[in-house]
Parts: sequence; C-alpha cells; structure tokens
Amino acid sequence: MTVEESLQLQRATTSADIAAGERACPVCAREAREEYVPLFVLEEDLQQLIRANAPDTSSFEAVCARCVRLFERAKEQIMQDAALKKDGSSVLSTPLRLDAAERFTGKGVCIAFLDSGFYPHVDLTTPDNRIVGYRNLMQEDGDLASLFQPDAASWHGLMTSVVAAGNGSLSNGFYRGIAPDANVVLVKLARTGRITERNIQDGLEWILENRAKFNIKIVNISAGGDFEQSYLHDSLSQTVEECARQGLTIVCAVGNAGHLPNHPVFPPASAPSAIAVGGLDDNNSINRAHRGMYRSSYGPTLDGLQKPELIAPSIWIPAPILPDTPTAKAAALLEMLDRAGDSELHKIIEENAGIDAELDAALDRPAYMLRQIIALKVRQESVITKHYKYVDGTSFTAPIVSSVVAQMLEANPNLTPQQIKRILISTAERLPHYEVDRQGWGVIDPRGAVEKAVSFV
Ligand SMILES: [Zn+2]
Repeated sequence: MTVEESLQLQRATTSADIAAGERACPVCAREAREEYVPLFVLEEDLQQLIRANAPDTSSFEAVCARCVRLFERAKEQIMQDAALKKDGSSVLSTPLRLDAAERFTGKGVCIAFLDSGFYPHVDLTTPDNRIVGYRNLMQEDGDLASLFQPDAASWHGLMTSVVAAGNGSLSNGFYRGIAPDANVVLVKLARTGRITERNIQDGLEWILENRAKFNIKIVNISAGGDFEQSYLHDSLSQTVEECARQGLTIVCAVGNAGHLPNHPVFPPASAPSAIAVGGLDDNNSINRAHRGMYRSSYGPTLDGLQKPELIAPSIWIPAPILPDTPTAKAAALLEMLDRAGDSELHKIIEENAGIDAELDAALDRPAYMLRQIIALKVRQESVITKHYKYVDGTSFTAPIVSSVVAQMLEANPNLTPQQIKRILISTAERLPHYEVDRQGWGVIDPRGAVEKAVSFV
C-alpha cells in the first residue's frame, strides 16, 4: 500500500481526535465547545440509539456531551413513541431537533392565532382545555359550531395552533410543541382558506379589544397580504405597530416565495415590529451539517428592512392530522400496514376496502410488491403515525417561534416585544454559506433565547 492509499483509508474517529478539535460531533456536527463522551461508557441501548441517529456514519467512538444529554433525556420516549424512518433513525420532535429547554412550557402565557379555521384537537383540550377563547369573525359572537367543522379551512389553524401549543397527547407527549402548557385564543378570519389583508386587520383589532380579557401576549399570524406596501401607508402594518406598542409580540410567517425572482415580503410580516419568520430545512436531522434554506420569501422590504429576522424549521414539521377525515383513515390504514407482517397485508387491505383505491386495486399482488406500494404511500402522504404527518411551509414555522416566545414570557413576564425580538436576534445562529438577506440573523436558538430571557433585567 502506498502512503497515499493508506492516508485515504477510513479510520474510526477516536475521542482523542475529537478532543483535539479534528472532527465535529458525528451526530450534531457541532465543533467541540465542550467535552466529548466515549460511546463505550454509555449503556448499550443509548449507544445504539445514538448510532442510529447519526446521519452519515456509524463508525465513530465518541459524541459531544450535548448529544448524550439530548438522547439520555428522551431515550425512553424515542424508543417507545417515536416513529422510525426507513434508515432506522427516529422521527424526532420539534423540541428535540431544536434542543429546546424543557424547564419552560408556556404555562400561564396566552398565544392568539389568526387563521382560516380551527379544530379543538385533543392535544389542546386534554387533560385540560387550554382553548380559552374562540371567535369566528364571520358569525355573531358566541358561534362555536364552526370550530367543530372538519373542513378544509379548519386544517390550517389546527396545525398552526397545535404545532406551537399541542401537548402530543396522541403520542404519549412525544410529538408536542415547545409550549405544550400555553393557553390559546383562536380567531377564525375567513369562510375558506383564502384570507385577505382586511381579514387580518379585523383579527388584530379584535385582539386589541380583547387582549386584557384573555391575557393575550403573543399573536401568531400564518397568513399574509397580496401586495408589497410601505408600512408608512399601510393600515395593517400600522395596526401591527399599535399592537407592539400595547405589549403584544406579533410573529408572522414570511411567506413561501423564495424561489420567485422578486421573493416579496407582504404585510403584516413586512411591518417593522413584526417578527418575520423564514424557513430552515434541517433535512429532518439534528446534524447541523445538513442544514440548508427553505424557499421562504425575503427582503429587503420596500422600507429597506431586513426580513425575515429569523429562520426555524419549515419542512419535516410533525403536525396533527384532522380527525375523522379521509386523510386520517388513510394514515391509520398505512400505519397498520407498515407495522404488520407480510402474511397479514392482504387481509388488512381486504378488511379496509374503500379507504385507498390504489391498495384495493393491488390486492392480487404479492406481499413484497404491496410492501413497496405501502412504503411509497407513507412517503407521499407524509405520514409519521396515524395521528401526525409532516407539513411544510413558513405557516408552520411561525408557530415554532411563537412557542419559544411563550417560554421566554413564562421565564420573564416583564419582557417587552422589543426586548423579545432583540433576544431572539442576538441568540440566533447564522447558517454558513447562505446570504444574510435570506436568513436574517439566522436559526432560532430556543435554549439560548430562554436562558437570556431568564437573566434579562
Ligand atoms: Zn453532538
């Protein structure tokens, strides 16, 4: 063997290599800022779990202490309640992927959601009902019927509210949001999924009138207008500014138009005091080397403001499936098939005829082909379990930021919207290799933001 050949041979990374700063942690790709832990000192099942969740390699001997803590903390739950990916790694929850602090849960903090419609999902209503207010702006006050309609307009707000404040009750708490104890107020803005700038403004005005009654501190707006406007002449932007003056933190999805030549940012996200949230694509991994940008909209705005301020996961976000819908039935069937043995597949499909036409039509195929069809459908339908699926878009990113703000306000109720924004920005972490315009100050750091909130005076 020549010297050159021998240099190319793969050698397992030793803890000495890592301690010497030669390699980043193989699981999260962080540089050694703290101690590394050799795998052999860990319990066997923890070792296996960590190896299975290193995306690129299994030949390593040590990981960073932060990763050990993360997997130690969540080990039992990951093994019992996390869905498995085809490569044997686990579908991790949003709090785990962002390493959010668990000490704060948004308890006592109220987040209002402006959206096209909602549903009282059990992740919000059990064991205690945390939906403290519901208002349908299309109906007289007091209407509740529209909250229980499992229609298309209800999906969007169901997912935004549960991504932030759901307690993961249908996964033993695993697929929960970062603020699983927060209270929510749900404001239905429109009859269909189509929301206008006027609708959003009506919603904000209702919140200004009712914020004291419900103790609303945060407003999540996963919707936007249709035109770029200077905040100086736009009444929605002016209303956002008024909300901020009155102590409300306004979190907005920046939009999903990053692939368009002008990638515009519309009100309310373009208003100066809004926290506009863009999209991180973490490739469904905790390895930072896999982080890239989602196609979220970006500025500068007509007023020259940098938007978004922050980015957070915008794809591979676990979100609830609306119960009693064809999607829910299909997801339940797919989960059952995915877990069943080959000999049971035909029987299960037969017994569940009428739910999925493609599976019905494939009944005469051998089991290995059914298996392929099932795997393809699980992927196409973004199914995680029968109760949760993956969603993408900045609509579901803004709620992640809203949930971190709820933690911050629980930790320090005196923070003003301006202070909250400053803390989020100062703790965010830039993605290397991406323009600043697209990511603002970078990826949200929930743990860092909450720690800073605690000590902020
Ligand atoms: Zn690590």
